[in-house]
Amino acid sequence: MDKADRIFVAGHRGMVGSGVVRALERRGYSNVLTRSREEVDLIDQQSVHRFFDNERPQHVVLAAAKVGGIHANRTQQVEFMYENLMIQNNVIYGALQHEVERLLFLGSSCIYPKHAPQPIREDSLLTSSLEPTNEGYALAKIAGLKLCEFIHRQKGRRFISAMPCNLYGSGDNFHPEFSHVIPGMMRRFHQAKQENRDAVTVWGTGQVRREFLHVDDLAEGVVRLLETYDESETINVGYGSDVTIQELSELMKAVVGFDGPLVNDTSMPDGTPRKLLDSSKMLATGWEPKIPLEDGLQRTYQWALEQGVFRD
Ligand code: GDP
Repeated sequence: MDKADRIFVAGHRGMVGSGVVRALERRGYSNVLTRSREEVDLIDQQSVHRFFDNERPQHVVLAAAKVGGIHANRTQQVEFMYENLMIQNNVIYGALQHEVERLLFLGSSCIYPKHAPQPIREDSLLTSSLEPTNEGYALAKIAGLKLCEFIHRQKGRRFISAMPCNLYGSGDNFHPEFSHVIPGMMRRFHQAKQENRDAVTVWGTGQVRREFLHVDDLAEGVVRLLETYDESETINVGYGSDVTIQELSELMKAVVGFDGPLVNDTSMPDGTPRKLLDSSKMLATGWEPKIPLEDGLQRTYQWALEQGVFRD
């Protein structure tokens, strides 16, 4: 890849897309293309094809997706499935038709079976049933990674996919109900501290485990894969170890500075018991995560305070 190549990052306003733009620029890529939803509506096939006709990007990172936490996913399965299928079909097939050389599609570790052996290897895909709380999203992502795999094998094009573990960092969505656990918890703990509350609630039993990767670590991995990875099989990108939600909440208390007791709200779902990725293929590319969870949480809290996200 040449540093002057035209690289379209779809979804540049989101946490992952904005991280990828920063990582590409740090690495010296000087021609990163971005478009807001008002300019190119990725759900609209004509709008996407018009963009490819006019701008002729040489490479694409597909970070645009409808994403959300466990509550958003389980209550909006229709939107999560439909919107993601539309976005990825339009962008991946548009890229195929418009001679895009390299495309990287991003999914998530929820594509793997609920009870996959841990740590989860790439070949666990489609070996048994999915976690029901995010089945719509996972099915869309599986369709996208398979489309890339088929294009790679059948058309000989460098269309690849990467499956990260749970992500967090600057640019995340801090919605109180629909966000993922880190921003959701951070908001509640922050408010509890501000309002001198006695206790805060943590959804679920707190006993399930999650693997968290900072978005800047993922973004470095994305650039590396775009430059070097050329296999049809998807590749896992994880931090390498996981924590229980209980352990996460203890770290969060320290980061935010709230020291009251935690109360588990077991009317909220736990989701899958564990989804630790086996990232040995990714580590073999020479990439490794650099941001430990506690540092990443500190950075994220700092960013959230600077942006005023808790005032929204
Ligand atoms: P998941 O990996 O798809 O389950 O994504 P989430 O990040 O939404 O949730 C991870 C785990 O954290 C689940 O077991 C949730 O029940 C738990 N959790 C605890 N507090 C919260 C919260 O405030 N928001 C969210 N989204 N999850 C929470």
